[in-house]
Formats: sequence, C-alpha cells, structure tokens
Amino acid sequence: MTDKITVAGVAVDTRHWIGGERVASAGTFTDVSPIDGGVIGEIARGTATEAAAAVAAAKAAFPAWAATPRAERARLLHAVADGVEKRIEELAIVETTDNGALLRSHRRGVMPRVAHNFRFFADWLLSLEHEDFDTRGHTNHVDWDPAGPSVLITPWNAPLMLSTWKIAPALAAGNTVVLKPAEWTPLTASLLADIAAEAGLPAGVLNIVQGYGSEIGDALTSDPDVRRISFTGSVPTAKRISASAAANLTPLSLELGGKSPLLVFADADLDLAVDLAVEQYDNAGQVCLAATRILVEESIAEEFTRRFTEKAAGIVQGDPRDEATDIGPNIHPRQLDKIDGFVRRAVEAGARAVIGGHPKDGQYYAPTLLTDVAQDSEIVQEEVFGPVLTLQTFTTEDEAVRLANDTRFGLAATVATGDKQRAGRVTAQLVAGTVWVNCFFVRDLQAPFGGSRHSGVGREGGNWSFDFYCDLKNTVTAPKGWKDH
Ligand code: NAD
Repeated sequence: MTDKITVAGVAVDTRHWIGGERVASAGTFTDVSPIDGGVIGEIARGTATEAAAAVAAAKAAFPAWAATPRAERARLLHAVADGVEKRIEELAIVETTDNGALLRSHRRGVMPRVAHNFRFFADWLLSLEHEDFDTRGHTNHVDWDPAGPSVLITPWNAPLMLSTWKIAPALAAGNTVVLKPAEWTPLTASLLADIAAEAGLPAGVLNIVQGYGSEIGDALTSDPDVRRISFTGSVPTAKRISASAAANLTPLSLELGGKSPLLVFADADLDLAVDLAVEQYDNAGQVCLAATRILVEESIAEEFTRRFTEKAAGIVQGDPRDEATDIGPNIHPRQLDKIDGFVRRAVEAGARAVIGGHPKDGQYYAPTLLTDVAQDSEIVQEEVFGPVLTLQTFTTEDEAVRLANDTRFGLAATVATGDKQRAGRVTAQLVAGTVWVNCFFVRDLQAPFGGSRHSGVGREGGNWSFDFYCDLKNTVTAPKGWKDH
C-alpha cells in the first residue's frame, strides 16, 4: 500500500489519522470512482485494533481539549474553516471523483458550507448562555460540560458535508472525535485531517479511522470510553449501532432515511411546484431529504404531469465534472442494481413509468416517474435512494395528509400551496422533522434537524447540537451556609 495517492492532481494520504499521526493497516480496500468505475487507490482497512487506538487517542486528548477556553476552541475551528476555504477547489474535485456528485455544487455550495459548519458552531459556542435562575433564594446555574470522546459515523452521499456537520459541534462543545467515513468515500476526510493539523488542532482531538462499518463499527460503538455516538445512514445500520451502544447506554443521535412527500394542491403556483418536484432528482436522488412521493390534487394532476415531463426532459445526465451536467452517476453498481430492482418490482406490480424506468450506459439511472402505485406497495413505502419518484393523486386535504403520513418514515415534507390557511392546517398535521412550504432544502444550522419515527432519533443543530454533545449540569446553591473570611 502506498501512503499517498494522487487524485485529480491532489495528494491524498491513504492511512488513518490517529493521535496526530498517520497510521497504516495491514490490509487495504479499493476505492473506486463512480464516474468511470476506475480504481482510485488502496485505502487503509481499519480493524478493531485501530478503532481502539483512535478511541484511546480521543480519550487521552479529551481533558486538555475540554479545558481549553471557549475562545481558543472557537479560534481553532475558524482556522480549520480558513483551511477548508483555501482548499475548496481540491476538496471539490476529490469529492466529485469519489462520490460522483456535481463538481459545480461542491465548488459553489457544498465546500463553502463545510467551512460554514466550522464557523457557525465556533460562533454559536461563544454565544452559548444559560441564564441562572432562582428557586426560593437558591441559585440554579447550568453548565454545558463536554461529554467526552464521540464517535461519528457518516454515509457517502455527502461525505465531507455530513461529517463536518457532526465534527464541528462536537469539537466546539469540547468533545474529542473519532470519525468513521463511509468506505465508498474515504478521501475528503483524509484531506480534512491535513487541514486540521495545519490549523493547529491538538493531536488526538480529531481522529479518523477508515474501513468497513461491518468490520470496525462494533469496536467503535461498543467501546466503554465513548460518550456519544452520532450516526447518519440507513435504518438497518442504526438498529445494529443502537444494539451495540446499549451495552454502555451510550447516548445516540441517529439521522436516517426517508420517504418524504411533496404535496401539490390545486391552488399552488404550478411552475414552482413542478420545479420543486424536478429538483428531487438532484444528486441522482441520493438525498435523504428528497421528496420522492409526489402527491398531487387530482384536478391538476394531468397538467402537472405534462409540465413535469417537459421540464424533466431537459435534465442533463453525465460527467459530474462538466458544468452543464445536472445529474451524475449513482454511487456503486450495487446501488444501481438496488434501484433497478425497486423499479422492476413496481412495474411488475402494475406501476407505469411516465419517464425513465431503466438504467443507462455506465453507472447512471434514467430519472424515473412512476404512476399507478398502491399506497401499501414497496415503491411507495421503502426508500430507493436513486432518481425514482412516484406520483399519486388525492381529492381532499385530509386524504393528502393521510397519504403523506402513511409510511414508517418522518424526515421531511414539502407543501406547495397558494393558500396560507391551508399551509398552516396541513403543516400542523404532518409528521416530519422538517417541513418546507413552497421551497425545498433551505436549511439554517440553528434549526433543529432530524427525523421522526424510523427517520431518526434526536435532533442536532444550534442549541440542540450542544444539548446532545454536552452533559448539562445544574448546580443549585443555597443562600445560607457561608462562612465569613
Ligand atoms: P449505511 O447505513 O450503509 O452506512 C452508513 C455508515 O455506517 C458507513 O460509514 C458505514 O461504513 C457504517 N456502518 C455500516 N455498518 C456499521 C456497523 N455495524 N456499525 C457501525 N457503522 C457501520 O448507509 P449508506 O448507504 O452509507 O447511506 C445511505 C443512507 O443514509 C440512506 O438511508 C439515507 O437516507 C441516509 N442518510 C440520512 C441523512 C439524514 O440526515 N437523515 C443524510 C444522508 C443520508
């Protein structure tokens, strides 16, 4: 195994980052680009030994980092953000090579947002206050005590974005971190280790172990020295992690999948509604929040479908490095097979593909819209995680809400309506962590983020992140008992 590989002209270390040092493993795994199926390189394949070493490094670094004054922690997080901003081009091209999402989005949206993750939580830390309050003359004083070493496990669909959305608040709170990036996208995490070291983050504060979740996940999540686990990924993995963490009652934050609805009422601005619907193909449908179930009021369904089809025909699918491309490849041949399996079974069960319904050359799946789908069918109930939408109709507001809420998920929902009263009535009844009205994907880091039901446990964002990563301590002091000195 070579220690460094060159990815699109950028040098990337293939080893773990533990206790401020690069650490190799005896074994490796092969990282492949979804753009052309080409081998990117061999990456260190972590074992329980490296997992334990990373947690030990985080434990050793914790007391000093927790005691570091807030202003200094915030300064260092801003320094990491500076480093990210200096390397936006490199991070963008490496991420695109690794996960196939659009280069232009990485450049202009995602990587600046990565820097913002660090800046936001650094600034939030400095403004974090809990007012003291009084109980019959006794003072209550609440402290946000750092909880300890935190294990963060992330998926491949937005690797650095989702990793830093956890790393930044965990570090700001005074915790030390072990990150396990997804095995399909290990590269930008390694670049982040370089950036953190250059920024002066002390050794052991941020540790990164590469490898398969199935091989090192249990070692990380069952370690008794781990005080928090934050996971973004699939429901089956979340259940496995919950079971493993239960041995030590380690608190968990779980951000999971979804099957979110887009409700389009007849009074909606139809062009806006169509734009919102077509937007759900972004990142080749590999977005947890995607509104993959389009629910349209029957009276406008025909017109909506006509305009949707027209608009979707303009989607440019191809090399994610091209400026003109709207949708890149899907992450892995296995994922492509999974998507196609969902669509084929739906069609066998009576669904009709209005557009798409088949894979294309390479690792691409045609943007697909399926109608004639039953509410209790697999395609309506299960997350596909590809560019596949279903369309159902409703005749009343009550029916729309019932269909919207009728899955085991509850991550997000989007409502398109021109009637404010209706918006109020409908949003009040939707079961979802985030509800958008006449918009999609607008996200402020101070908002609570997470899912209901099988879409997750807990919320992160703003104070909710600090609630999760801290042990809140209330000290009650009596007005009596003091000695004069
Ligand atoms: P996944 O559950 O297969 O993997 C996620 C991570 O968990 C990877 O790093 C993997 O290596 C690790 N892992 C696997 N087995 C493990 C184990 N036993 N112990 C510990 N870690 C283990 O999910 P995925 O396919 O990478 O991601 C797609 C899923 O993530 C979708 O369901 C999507 O909706 C969800 N997602 C949710 C959000 C959100 O914010 N709610 C955001 C993005 C993606």
